[in-house]
Amino acid sequence: MIRAFAVNLGNGLILTIGLFAIRSHMHRAIEKLIFGVYLVMCLQFVVRPVMVFLLDDAPFNVETYSDSIFFIVLHLVVGVIAVTMAMTLFVSFSIQMIEDLGERSITDSLSGLLNRRGFEEAAARLFSLTDEPGEAVCLVLADIDRFKLINDNYGHGFGDVVIARTGSLFRGYANGGRSAGRVGGEEFVLLMPSTRLEDGRLFAEAIRRKFSAYKFHTDQGALKFSASFGVAERRPGETLTELLSRADAALYFSKENGRDRVSDETDMDKSDPSKALDALERRHRRGLNAPVIAGGRG
Ligand code: GH3
Ligand code: MG
Ligand code: MG
Repeated sequence: MIRAFAVNLGNGLILTIGLFAIRSHMHRAIEKLIFGVYLVMCLQFVVRPVMVFLLDDAPFNVETYSDSIFFIVLHLVVGVIAVTMAMTLFVSFSIQMIEDLGERSITDSLSGLLNRRGFEEAAARLFSLTDEPGEAVCLVLADIDRFKLINDNYGHGFGDVVIARTGSLFRGYANGGRSAGRVGGEEFVLLMPSTRLEDGRLFAEAIRRKFSAYKFHTDQGALKFSASFGVAERRPGETLTELLSRADAALYFSKENGRDRVSDETDMDKSDPSKALDALERRHRRGLNAPVIAGGRG
């Protein structure tokens, strides 16, 4: 009897040490469930022998052990816990797999940012939360300058490296409710809640500076590239397509005015109207007028 208690308490103690080791990693609901089942398994090593002893104090020895209540309850309880643990782990892995698949379907693998679909979903969520007048939402749209030349001169693989680097740069700004996405080949977006146009511009300017200062080390030496930016603040009730379209117009204003710069509607208002009209006509001829989200531009 004493030996049976000692073995049970010893097992319980060893498992409890494991329980403390994994405690800090159990945050999600399913992980807490696994932790709970594990905790029950630990506790039963103390509770079960005491209960059995209190309810059935018939002594047992080596010969009678396999017919004892202690033995039967032990196997029953351990069996039930093992099945529960197996089922919990199975459910946990299934949930994890479903979450991973969901995550993958909204993530662009090259940049690590939201893909177009993921970005549309994030914007829809944000717009539904911030549809009150006075709730500022700002959008930054960026397009790497002369990217076709980067591909042509250094190869498509190197072009991918530039996209990946731009992705990690934008990822650094995707916190505090902000969402970053890759919505076209070399086009990136940052959607910012509680941000006015002036502040949106500051974000865009910071990203532009970092991007143009970054050195890509290649066999042909260190290379630097630039990107052009368009910023727009959401008007009340405006859809994502409309907002993107305005940011897109500002972006192409940046392109037309020398690239490697940030523009918004106020810059376009200030510009020479005939120049703005020329730019618009040239964009129209190049088929660049369709809003980005409608997949109009390559
Ligand atoms: P601009 O300064 O006016 O933006 O000129 P650009 O050359 O950057 O623009 P353009 O639209 O002419 O070229 C974009 C190029 O991006 C064409 C396309 O082959 C390339 N591209 C699109 N997606 C990818 C990608 O995933 N990887 C690589 N390496 N290139 C891509
Ligand atoms: Mg480009
Ligand atoms: Mg482009």
